[in-house]
Amino acid sequence: MLMNDEKRGIEEAYTSAMTSSNLRVEADRPSDADVIIAAGWNQSRIGGALLRLHTEWDASEKPRMASFEHFLPSLKTGTPKERKVRAHAMAHQHNLHEMGILLGKLKALPDVRREATMQAMKWGMGQSMDPITRSERSEVRAHDAQMLKRLREAVANAGPECLDDRNAELVSATEEVNARRRAEEAEDREHCSEKAIAVIRWWLSQSCPVCQGTKFQVVEGTHRHNGKACGKCHGTGCSEIPHDQEGRRLAGWFDQCVERARASIGRRLRPGRMEA
Ligand SMILES: [Zn+2]
Repeated sequence: MLMNDEKRGIEEAYTSAMTSSNLRVEADRPSDADVIIAAGWNQSRIGGALLRLHTEWDASEKPRMASFEHFLPSLKTGTPKERKVRAHAMAHQHNLHEMGILLGKLKALPDVRREATMQAMKWGMGQSMDPITRSERSEVRAHDAQMLKRLREAVANAGPECLDDRNAELVSATEEVNARRRAEEAEDREHCSEKAIAVIRWWLSQSCPVCQGTKFQVVEGTHRHNGKACGKCHGTGCSEIPHDQEGRRLAGWFDQCVERARASIGRRLRPGRMEA
């Protein structure tokens, strides 16, 4: 069932890409040509790329993550509590930045991010959940459809003396509408790409950033535990998956791809088993 749905999704993307007139591979934005390149990717290959990514990650030198105490002395204003909150935020920003630099060095990352973004697009994760944005978008679409309908009727009813003009109007309006749809898609893709990288980051390193996976609170200024459960992860030692349900769905898909890749590697290593 899942296989069929997936196949259909890929085929749809492929067909729409094939019929598109713009098949140049553009460096600065994902184009239809990228869809065709990516259509050759199956779950097993994506799983292989994820495995390579994890291996690269494991082998890489991790930067030491900064704690809020690192930034506290530089803050001179505000109450102690305010300073602590700000120092935590600064540490978080700093660590994200360091993580970004590290991720940028992983060679398997662009493939994994592209595939995860495609999958998120297929699941509609790029569309804003904000009701105002959503209704604005459907209003624009309804308006566009009305406009094109009116211009098509004008072409149909045009006499020979003004047919060229009516045709030209329809062509330029169609281009305008297509550009709006492409802009929407680019916006959705941007959202999906951001979600994909957040989930990839989590998938690579799932330990709690505060207790580093030790599950306990650390006594300020020391490396000793005080025996109480970490306040951030409530003693699980794990960081929270980003983007809730969508994040869980993507991470589950990563695991599934990895499983497929492992199964396919297994089949290649034990060819005799298949015949038995
Ligand atoms: Zn923790």
